[in-house]
Amino acid sequence: MFQGKVVLVTGAARGLGRVIAEAFAREKALLVLCDVRPEGLEVAKRLGGLFVYADLALPGHRERLVEQAVKQWGGVDVLVNNAAIAPPGSALKVSLEEWQRALEVNLTAPMHLSALAAREMARKGGGAIVNIASVQGLFAEQNNAAYNASKGGLVNLTRSLALDLAPLHIRVNAVAPGAIATEAVLEAIQMSTHPELTRQDWEDLHALRRLGRPEEVAEAVLFLASEKASFITGAILPVDGGMTASFMMAGRPV
Ligand code: NAD
Repeated sequence: MFQGKVVLVTGAARGLGRVIAEAFAREKALLVLCDVRPEGLEVAKRLGGLFVYADLALPGHRERLVEQAVKQWGGVDVLVNNAAIAPPGSALKVSLEEWQRALEVNLTAPMHLSALAAREMARKGGGAIVNIASVQGLFAEQNNAAYNASKGGLVNLTRSLALDLAPLHIRVNAVAPGAIATEAVLEAIQMSTHPELTRQDWEDLHALRRLGRPEEVAEAVLFLASEKASFITGAILPVDGGMTASFMMAGRPV
């Protein structure tokens, strides 16, 4: 489906980003992966792609990332804005530095990278962007002000980009995952940012009564990036086992 297409995935050293990269690799995409974690190099090597160390909080690193993709593979066809951070804390507690870094990585970087990649996509006649938002871009979680705000921004940025980039034949969509069993989430459940909640409680937030699998998010990302979704742009697709189908579930204290 993606043979010969250049796919750039941010935050691909582990978790969802790595599984999304693996899914594109199975479809024979030419990969460009970035992260601040050095493990990203091994992932890229294994998948035959290029690894670029990039701290997406830094505008110069974002520019260099797209430049490297063009240098290596001649352009960018698909951009997956996946990297994110989630400094815990209510609006009263989160420091201004943490707030600013979360907004920079989770919202400004997707905007800037989309603009940089869109110029390359336009040169080749079009492309697709998929943003990894969250159910927390649709509803808020207690004690997570910066993450909630950044993901809410990413949801509406997705719509803005869809409108602005449509004339360039670039589609822009987002997925909004529920709780997905990645390293980060399993650690959070174990260590617990919410000591009162068991794994069963987390599972019960979803109508399907389980955590999502990273592969289930990757499937949705590949669909939205593919020609199968050729008339879909500006959409926010929940991949959340029915969590946001019910305001009762969305209102629970996680
Ligand atoms: P994760 O923390 O395992 O992965 C995020 C990756 O981004 C890491 O490899 C990290 O090193 C990288 N990253 C962080 N800051 C960076 C920076 N400044 N520059 C470059 N790379 C950076 O988390 P995950 O669970 O795999 O989540 C991936 C995406 O999915 C995130 O956008 C997250 O908000 C979203 N999401 C995850 C879940 C879930 O349940 N796992 C639910 C909803 C949304």
